[in-house]
Order: sequence, then structure tokens, then C-alpha cells
Amino acid sequence: MDKKQFRAESKRLLEMMINSIYTQKEIFLRELISNSSDAIDKIYYRALTDDSLTFDQEGYFIKVTPNKEARTLTITDTGIGMNQEELESHLGVIAKSGSLAFKQENEAKDGRDIIGQFGVGFYSSFMVADKVVVISRPLGSDTAWKWESEGTEGYTIEPTEKAEVGTEVVLHIKPDTEEDSYDDYLNEYRLKALIKKYSDFIRYPIKMDFTSS
Ligand code: ADP
Ligand code: MG
Repeated sequence: MDKKQFRAESKRLLEMMINSIYTQKEIFLRELISNSSDAIDKIYYRALTDDSLTFDQEGYFIKVTPNKEARTLTITDTGIGMNQEELESHLGVIAKSGSLAFKQENEAKDGRDIIGQFGVGFYSSFMVADKVVVISRPLGSDTAWKWESEGTEGYTIEPTEKAEVGTEVVLHIKPDTEEDSYDDYLNEYRLKALIKKYSDFIRYPIKMDFTSS
């Protein structure tokens, strides 16, 4: 007899995931920083085998920028970036972990990044943001792409401009509620503490830009 595939209601799944896999909302920052770090790793590994590419440590970093007025928190990296297809397949398919495959290829698993291995890391953004905009320019291309989503309703992708190769994830932080202080994620002390708590082992510099906060 033919074995049929289960189908899934992706909207419901996404809602369930956002609300139940993660017990602590604050881990979204760890997930985004780890994606940025993975993206820089990819340039690093590429440079090992591609002579035309040099890995100059100085040029690679992650930056966290809160903006209280705009109510945004932006995570910027100088990593490998994503083209249109990659934005579709990496951010448009839930629970497909690209970095799991990559990590298995390149380094021994150390069990540190368990949630990341489910391939739902990026979506943890929606625990604290009601809109997420990803602006990315892939290595070797002049064209940048803007991916935008308000969560369960889907996403849009359009061409845009970006001066540097890499990715910028802009979180539009939710308004405060009685139960949750989302304002916390725009607060420089809280952000510093979260970075210290979860991302201390990241091997690239994590800069904090508080000029607009
Ligand atoms: P995972 O990291 O386990 O693959 P995520 O949901 O965290 O799952 O991310 C999905 C994929 O999206 C990543 O594997 C990667 O290919 C891509 N991605 C996410 N963030 C970035 C980024 N900052 N730069 C480049 N690619 C990214
Ligand atoms: Mg991840």
C-alpha cells in the first residue's frame, strides 16, 4: 500500500512553535547571533579552499543596535549573506536546519546549540517582534534582497540596496504588555547582559551600537 505523507498546517505549526518550543523569549538574541556567527564561519571555511578569498579577521563582526525611538533591534553581520533563493529556502521553510547540515560537515557536534539544531532558531524572533525585516547581500553579488514578514501570514521578498556583503535582521519589537516587558530588548544593559549570558563563546567580535538608543 502507498504510504502517504502527513500534511501540516504551517500557520498553526509556526504559532505552536513560537509559543511553545521556547520557554524563554530572551533566547531569540542567542539564535540570531549564532546565525550571524555561522554566516561568518561560512566565509572563513570558503576562504580555506578559495585562493581568491582572504579571511581578514578585522573585517568580520556582529553588531547589535537598539533604537528606542523606532522600537527596532537590529542584528548586523558581515557574513556570507543570502540571495533571493536562499532567503526563500532558508527563511521560508520551517524546521529545515541548514546550519545543522553545515555543522555536521565542518565540525564535531558539541551539543551546545540544541535548539539551533531544530532549524527553528530564526523564527524565535517572532516571540519578541511583530515584524521582522531581513536585508541581505550575498558574497560575490551587487544585488541585495529584502525579506519581510509579520509572522504567520507569510513573507515578501524584493530587491533592495545594501552597501556591504552580509545580513541585517531588523526586529520591530512588540509593544509592552502587562505580562511581558518587550522594552527590555531595547535596553542596553539588558542586551549586554544577554550577550554575556548566551553568546560569550562566539568567536567573532560582538559590537554594540548604542548611538541611537
Ligand atoms: P539553523 O541555524 O539551525 O539552520 P535557523 O532558523 O536559525 O536554523 O536559520 C535558518 C537558515 O537561514 C540558516 O541555516 C542560514 O542558512 C540562514 N540564515 C539565517 N540567518 C542568517 C544570517 N545572518 N546570514 C546568513 N544566513 C542566515
Ligand atoms: Mg540558527
